[in-house]
Amino acid sequence: GDGMMKTYDIAALPGDGVGKEVVSSAIEVIGALSDVHGGLAFRFTEFPWNCDYYMEHETMMPPDAMKTLAQFEGVFLGAVGNPAIVPDHVSLWGMLIKIRREFELSINMRPAKKVRGIESPLVNPKSFDLVVVRENSEGEYSEVGGRIHRGADEMAIQNAIFTRKATERAIRFAFELAGKRNKHVTSATKSNGIYHSMPFWDEVFTEVAKEYPDIESRSNHIDALAAFFVTKPYDFDVIVASNLFGDVLTDIGSAIMGSIGIAPSANINLSGKYPSMFEPVHGSAPDIAGKGVANPIGQIWTAKLMLDHFGEEELGRELLTIIEDATEAGIKTPDIGGRSTTAEVTEEICSRIRKKG
Ligand code: ATP
Repeated sequence: GDGMMKTYDIAALPGDGVGKEVVSSAIEVIGALSDVHGGLAFRFTEFPWNCDYYMEHETMMPPDAMKTLAQFEGVFLGAVGNPAIVPDHVSLWGMLIKIRREFELSINMRPAKKVRGIESPLVNPKSFDLVVVRENSEGEYSEVGGRIHRGADEMAIQNAIFTRKATERAIRFAFELAGKRNKHVTSATKSNGIYHSMPFWDEVFTEVAKEYPDIESRSNHIDALAAFFVTKPYDFDVIVASNLFGDVLTDIGSAIMGSIGIAPSANINLSGKYPSMFEPVHGSAPDIAGKGVANPIGQIWTAKLMLDHFGEEELGRELLTIIEDATEAGIKTPDIGGRSTTAEVTEEICSRIRKKG
């Protein structure tokens, strides 16, 4: 090496249930990767905030937690929730949702990819590799509206908020991402049925697309798009969607991968004021927690998204190839049809990293 060492300071929040098992697994894998590639180091600082912490302190996190977390370059989260001892609305709002809101994590990004050695529920076995970029700060999930009248005349009014600022930054993010991938962006719209917001969304999309002449773009209505995710997911590269549409598409995305245990996600801060947060799609999985059989791939893939985020895309690609080599060799946890434990999968991936490096 040239003596330059880049160290990324990451706050690790293993959280509850399988979160603890898979975060330690992913940290091990990143450690192996850094050992092999001098010049790069991730320094993880762990914080024990979870439902057990709540039982002792009556709060999910200490009062200065957000200030503490803000000093890191990234937040690496496992899963939060243990409904047997703390109601989900208390644990999720006290930690996960608090971080998502206060750190202005305006983009949620979830890749969906056919993984070698893992069966997808799709009949068409052709491989796919897409990313859904979801606007995550406004849109349909707004608190504007209300309920009026009673009885037979009762009604609820729900307003969706689409600002130019948030719409444009989500769409721009999608085009930038496509530039590093397969140079194709699909916009999820519904301008044939939604009168104000979707034509506006389309307009902004067309404007931004003009700035990226080397990237192909198209729009699909959300209903057709959802069907295409099932019939021809190989037709997509980057998909950009509003909060609600993105919510639905990302779930279809992880479903077609074959197991929720392998799906990763990133919550991106675009203002640069706060760290981004990386977490797998799955929850704390109380039904299998403590048994040593949780699939660590979702969390390890989440670490890959963190590598990408810091511009270490080469390493990210290498890590994903090694994950697929391991699954193709049959070293898999039960959720994807194997018999291996979390520890065995982790060790397999680490030893393949060392062998390659
Ligand atoms: P929430 O998403 O609100 O936490 P939940 O607790 O039902 O809801 P998960 O914790 O994701 O959702 O669990 C859903 C199912 O997927 C469970 O049967 C669980 O065992 C399984 N599952 C989740 N994560 C993994 C994993 N990493 N490996 C294997 N199976 C998993």
